[in-house]
Amino acid sequence: MAKSLTSSYKKLMEKEKNLFILGSAGAIVHWDMETKMPPRAIRLRSLQLAMLSRIEHKMSTDPEIGKLLKETMRQPEYDSLDTVQKRNLYLIKKHYDEQTKLPEELVAETAKQEAITIDVWKKAKAAKDFSMFKPELEKLFDLRKKAAGILMEVKKTATPYDALVDIFEPKMTAESISKVFAELREGLISLIKKCEVAPKQPDISVLKRRVPIDIQRKIAESLTELIGYDIKSKEAGGRIDETEHPFTTGYYDDVRITTHYYEDNFASSIFSTLHEGGHAIYEQNLNRDWIFQPVGTACSSGFHESQSRFVENIVGRSREFWIYFLPKLKELTGNILSDGDLDGFVHAVNQVKPSKIRVEADEVTYCLHIIVRFNLERDLFANKITVAELPQIWNQRYKEYLGVDIENDSEGVMQDTHWAGGLFGYFPSYALGNIFSGQILATMEKDVPDWKNQISSGNFQDVKQWLTKNVHHYGNLHDPADLIKRITGEEVSVKPYFNYLYRKYSKLYGF
Ligand code: ZN
Repeated sequence: MAKSLTSSYKKLMEKEKNLFILGSAGAIVHWDMETKMPPRAIRLRSLQLAMLSRIEHKMSTDPEIGKLLKETMRQPEYDSLDTVQKRNLYLIKKHYDEQTKLPEELVAETAKQEAITIDVWKKAKAAKDFSMFKPELEKLFDLRKKAAGILMEVKKTATPYDALVDIFEPKMTAESISKVFAELREGLISLIKKCEVAPKQPDISVLKRRVPIDIQRKIAESLTELIGYDIKSKEAGGRIDETEHPFTTGYYDDVRITTHYYEDNFASSIFSTLHEGGHAIYEQNLNRDWIFQPVGTACSSGFHESQSRFVENIVGRSREFWIYFLPKLKELTGNILSDGDLDGFVHAVNQVKPSKIRVEADEVTYCLHIIVRFNLERDLFANKITVAELPQIWNQRYKEYLGVDIENDSEGVMQDTHWAGGLFGYFPSYALGNIFSGQILATMEKDVPDWKNQISSGNFQDVKQWLTKNVHHYGNLHDPADLIKRITGEEVSVKPYFNYLYRKYSKLYGF
């Protein structure tokens, strides 16, 4: 490597390191706001967060980065860089171009409008009144459309909406996602029908038994131990706290999760702990050599979801998992669940029931909620529909896909915070995560054929090691469609996910 190149590459990476350190500090300030902050601190906290984001914006749009990028990429020696270094440069350049092309005024106006829209969304949701929400959502949508138009030029995508999707699933397009989702929708609708008319139906009364919250905390601890997410030892890099909406945040040696405990719904904290635990072990097991480098981050939002859902659903809702964990659960809960039988319990935690609310949806119906949202977003950005038409089309699709009647817009189009927060293009990642998880499972089963036996004896080690080596370790070295191909040898495909679902649910429901 030529000397000048080494020095400009090094300078760039030094700047990146500072950005990662600053970002991780911001994440902790956010985490504190959600978990520990006393109410009166909110004003000071918003000033702190605004200052941190101003500093971050200034650092990440520093013209020096542009200059160093040019120097590094123009060198004839660029070819002598290895794959990791080239990927770092690619990711830095992509981020820098996007950040610098968006006018500061638009960024500031969008941030302001997002805060207003979220605030109005809360009030409109409480009042079940979309007409309150509509004018603010329209303003925010126009701002995001402007940004999408600019990003489309920078990223050279075919449509503005693709430029937004690219933020969460780099290089994936609405066209390719539409094809996959059409197949997904058809398969899921027919699977739901099979479950609905099947001879065996679950009895979910066991899940409604009251389990005191201090016992639920012990259950959550025991789950983190099982999946190897350390929150207890002197070497621990994790911790678990409580928030209404569970989330994961952090970086390498400090990755934190939250859960919520409801006395009359103990299963909720079990599955949210497993879900967030899946996110956390992904972050903790990224390649250690790549810390403070762009390659040392997760591949995409969909890949992140594939890991959380793998732990939550593929492992955590399997019969084998409960062979091991039900006796433990009985032990921890005293006489509350002592009469629960394995098969009844497993069927109960895998009940398939079309519902109105996405975050409460089961494994089989979940993706249909996502497909409704994706189709609406795509058509909105393509000017095929308007913001005003959203509630009506939403309700029609829910009837068509899930067979449910939406009675008001709070349980309909206003149920999620995403659009109110300006987050367009994110929804497809949730369903892509499920699809990826199916493909990853099919590949893992070839390498670790006895994984189910291991899980039934409480051994998660081999599964975790396989995921670390084959998924986590790749970090952001490849875009999602390339990474799935590298891991599985296949293009993005819903077939393995269907195979997994059909195998599991035909046994549970007896069809
Ligand atoms: Zn998640």
